[in-house]
Amino acid sequence: SQPSQFAVFGHPIAHSLSPRIHQAFARQFGIALEYRTTDAAPEAFAAAVRGFFAAGGAGANVTLPHKGAASALADERSEAAMRAGSANTLTRLPDGRLAAHNTDGTGLVRDITERHRVDLRGHDALMLGAGGAARAVAWSLLDAGVQTLTIVNRTPETADALADAIGEPARVHTRYWNDLADLGSYDLIVNATSAGVLGGGLKLPMSLVGARALCYDLAYGAAAIDFVAWAKAAGARYAWDGLGMLVEQAAEAFELWHGRRPDTEPVYQALRATV
Ligand code: NDP
Repeated sequence: SQPSQFAVFGHPIAHSLSPRIHQAFARQFGIALEYRTTDAAPEAFAAAVRGFFAAGGAGANVTLPHKGAASALADERSEAAMRAGSANTLTRLPDGRLAAHNTDGTGLVRDITERHRVDLRGHDALMLGAGGAARAVAWSLLDAGVQTLTIVNRTPETADALADAIGEPARVHTRYWNDLADLGSYDLIVNATSAGVLGGGLKLPMSLVGARALCYDLAYGAAAIDFVAWAKAAGARYAWDGLGMLVEQAAEAFELWHGRRPDTEPVYQALRATV
């Protein structure tokens, strides 16, 4: 039989690691699949996705800038996709309709709590950024038991909108970027900004880093170097980039499509050697 067809849609997309990750997972189970990258400009995205599934596509991943559109075009949405307002994974239901999922938040939490075995319960967390990725991970961090979540965004209105959407004023607070030096220290600091990717960098006070702090940049590789170096210099217990999250969100998508849970550690290690 023909190998089943998967794709990742983005713009740009050429450097996506998703094909390598999904092929490596598939090999663990002897599954033959095709997984290609599809560059689609925003105005062409919906038609490209519909065409892919109409031609027999079995599942798709979606990355920047299409995650919001992916959730909007689906016929059904998981709770995570609804909360995030965006989707990184599409599955085809038996009747041909499309379901949207967002595995980014679960991917981040699994990387921390399963792969690294760090318990997040009781942590006071600071999240820098309130964009699409921040929205996807905020609920998952709360579900994982962080005690408080403080959201700080360059544009404060976006942080307030996210906190309002979560609706847990006793646990979720927003603060101003200009006040970062006065906030004290945190157990978990998540960099969900794209400052590293965009090359601008962040100027962060070391006073944010608590004695046992875990600092996590959702970006990975070169884009995370500055944040990880800052965290280490400030004495963080752990300072990680988002490569593990990338592999774990892919594992979640793989399980949705294939019903099997891949072993992420060897795939992470193989990518780590190249990123
Ligand atoms: P968005 O464009 O939706 O949001 C960008 C965020 O970064 C906004 O909060 C924006 O603030 C902030 N920001 C951008 N530049 C600066 C700056 N110079 N100083 C301060 N804040 C800044 O992007 P995403 O949320 O989709 O992505 C964020 C990051 O997460 C990216 O690095 C992305 O690669 C990474 N990511 C990693 C994943 C993984 O699997 N490892 C999965 C998904 C995302 P403002 O609102 O003020 O513009």
